[in-house]
Amino acid sequence: MTFRTRQAPSPTGYLHLGTARTVLYTKLMAITKGGQWYIRLDDTDQNRLNLEAVTPLLESLQSLGLEAAEGITLDLSDTYSQEYNIYQKGDYGPYIQSERLSIYHEHAQKMIDSKLCYWSYLTPEDRQEIQANKQITKQPINWYLESLSRTNQELLQTSVALALNDPRKPVLRYRLQRDNKLKCHDELLGDTEFDLNLLEDPTFLKSDGFPSYHLAHLIDDHLTKVSMIIRSQEWYPSFPLHTQAFIDYWGVQNLPKFLHLPFVLGATGNKKMSKRDGNVNIQDYLDQGFLPEAIVNYLAFLGWNPGGEKELFLDQADF
Ligand code: GLU
Repeated sequence: MTFRTRQAPSPTGYLHLGTARTVLYTKLMAITKGGQWYIRLDDTDQNRLNLEAVTPLLESLQSLGLEAAEGITLDLSDTYSQEYNIYQKGDYGPYIQSERLSIYHEHAQKMIDSKLCYWSYLTPEDRQEIQANKQITKQPINWYLESLSRTNQELLQTSVALALNDPRKPVLRYRLQRDNKLKCHDELLGDTEFDLNLLEDPTFLKSDGFPSYHLAHLIDDHLTKVSMIIRSQEWYPSFPLHTQAFIDYWGVQNLPKFLHLPFVLGATGNKKMSKRDGNVNIQDYLDQGFLPEAIVNYLAFLGWNPGGEKELFLDQADF
């Protein structure tokens, strides 16, 4: 099987140093495995969308030599996306998630038909009450039972087309089978056993018809034949959910490998590096005249060291 991986930046702002490092590791992994990688645009969160952010993000990646041969690109190509002023190339497009809504809806429908998902019609007041109750019980919310107690069963299985036009604005949730412990394997961290009882049914389709990250990645990583998901450890708490959803929907034989990268930490060492710790915008370093090679060298050494005092690795002869 061909090794394939990807990166999925969100168009929210500049190229963050931590993201650049994740992209660097992704590219290095693809090179060492003799495989492929691509970049897709994770623009499903319409509230945090910044249309102007994408070109600078790709420019910064390009300056570091971290552009991909497939996916979204600044290179002239057949498919032009006016909204972001970028191109897309490759056989697995669209590579912009907002252009894939009909694909997500089609799969959401299949998940409803096979009872993996259900519509939840809870009002904001209902949700507030349920959350307040959680403060007292300290137990994870069972969204399925809460939804069922306020609506009739049939509504929970409504079609995607009808539900998205319903003025009550339901959301589609994934129905986790909770009485289970699940062992998940991470390429870096090894095995962890998660107790699914502690999880809550996540949203898969939002009321605006856009997928959540959970649904979008489940569909895209499978359809684009990704064999290893490399992403930040931010996603580790969702790892059991994603593993279970892959097994339930695509079958255990189609479960990709997962590799969660640790954060680049700030000076105190107990949280992600942020603006408060110094500059985290890659473009600022480039504008100040730092050489791309030096930045890449620095990023590589944030998580790895061959031992010894040698700090600068520019080509093969340095190793
Ligand atoms: N947009 C997500 C992030 O930046 C993508 C995570 C992933 O690689 O799947 O965290």
